[in-house]
Amino acid sequence: MNILDLTVKELSGAIAKKELNSVEITQAYLDAIEADHKNPKPINAYISVLSDLAIQSAKKADERIAKGNATPLTGIPVAIKDNMNIKGYPTTCGSDILTGYDTTYNAFVVEKLIGEHGMIPLGKANMDEFAMGSSTETSFYGITRNPYDRDRIPGGSSGGSAAAVAGKLAPAALGSDTGGSIRQPASLCGVVGLKPTYGTVSRYGLVAFASSLDQIGPLTHTVDDARMIFEALSAYDPKDSTSLDFQRKPMSLTGDIKGMKIGIPKEYFLDGMDKDVESVINATIKKLEDKGAKMVDISLPHTEYAVPTYYIVATAEASSNLERYDGVKYGKRDMDAKFLSDMYVRTRSGGFGEEVKRRIMLGTYVLSAGYYDAYYMKALKVRTLIKRDFEKAFEKTDAILTPVSPTPAFKIGEKTDDPIAMYLSDIFTISVNLAGIPAVSVPAGMTSAGLPIGAQVIGNLLAEETILNIAKAIEL
Ligand code: GLN
Repeated sequence: MNILDLTVKELSGAIAKKELNSVEITQAYLDAIEADHKNPKPINAYISVLSDLAIQSAKKADERIAKGNATPLTGIPVAIKDNMNIKGYPTTCGSDILTGYDTTYNAFVVEKLIGEHGMIPLGKANMDEFAMGSSTETSFYGITRNPYDRDRIPGGSSGGSAAAVAGKLAPAALGSDTGGSIRQPASLCGVVGLKPTYGTVSRYGLVAFASSLDQIGPLTHTVDDARMIFEALSAYDPKDSTSLDFQRKPMSLTGDIKGMKIGIPKEYFLDGMDKDVESVINATIKKLEDKGAKMVDISLPHTEYAVPTYYIVATAEASSNLERYDGVKYGKRDMDAKFLSDMYVRTRSGGFGEEVKRRIMLGTYVLSAGYYDAYYMKALKVRTLIKRDFEKAFEKTDAILTPVSPTPAFKIGEKTDDPIAMYLSDIFTISVNLAGIPAVSVPAGMTSAGLPIGAQVIGNLLAEETILNIAKAIEL
């Protein structure tokens, strides 16, 4: 049995049967990560590897297992995207501006998985700077490579998390999704990625990018694993004012979708669409029909406005959220400045990368007096229309099926000089964040060159069980 080939569920079973212990599992992953560093084209899934903490936690997990009070997740390693806090360790967000910043508290999700369940933190996963991007090429800590083709990007911004799982450098990972950052890299790396309903998973201790859109979720090999981790994460948290307080029920995933109505939105299937993506999605539709689901043609008429709306709302919120990195409160400070305002300018100009600065400027512009109504207010109104499109669609469907990404993984460097081309990578994922609803990306096929392609299942508010069931039907 090769430890690195096992899913979370299989690892959990092996631990329960005493075939494996947490220290050996953790060590196998730490060895794999170290071996990757020696590869001339490393995957580079991690910004920092927490070897000591991981081994220490694994020893504690084994003691807990021996005492018989473990949960199914105890002792299983996980990679944490580097925008979530692990107390006492750096959180970099892939940015130079946070160099030297050590966190002082655990994120809620870290408290849950590591504190409560006893999962093992392998390290902090690489990401686009402040989660802005679709390729993990804007990280200050170097690019992450796609394990399926090391000359291609893994997607982003949770590219480190997706590549860690796909490259067998972690059995599971946490990512964050503001406009597609869990689902798009999951699709491009051939893993499962769930973006939950807004408010089901607390954002406490997640560095804010666009607070009304950000959600944390799991990246895993299988739908069952995604369910296990999602159920461990989903809980009310009074420390997050947008956390939903409701009774969570355990899910049962059978993959039985007989009689379900699945919407196929015409706006997501345009002429000129990538041939491989088109044939994988068509094959997925056929598979779901064979399993007894009924496909329904639907329309989400405001889809074409999703990308521009997102880039107004997200940049507006980002410009405000990123104001705090001023050289005083966190991380880096320019020490050559002669006076205070000069210190702000020099710290921010030097500490942030190009894409982050572009967004801060755009966001500040759309919020400024004179432009606020024309851009920001207008975008909020369009956001409501996009949300209503989905509400209408769910009146006659149980879920919606779409592609995740317009293309399979592209070449490293292919889009770095063209921000608009990069922004269009999220054309199929962004509306979901604007509407606050859940969606999952599940591996659905391969290109002839062997690159993974995912399918996206979108659900109504809190319909995680429905979309995971459909995802399971696609996976089986
Ligand atoms: N690619 C999108 C962006 O650049 C989404 C990022 C995300 O979901 N964090 O904003």
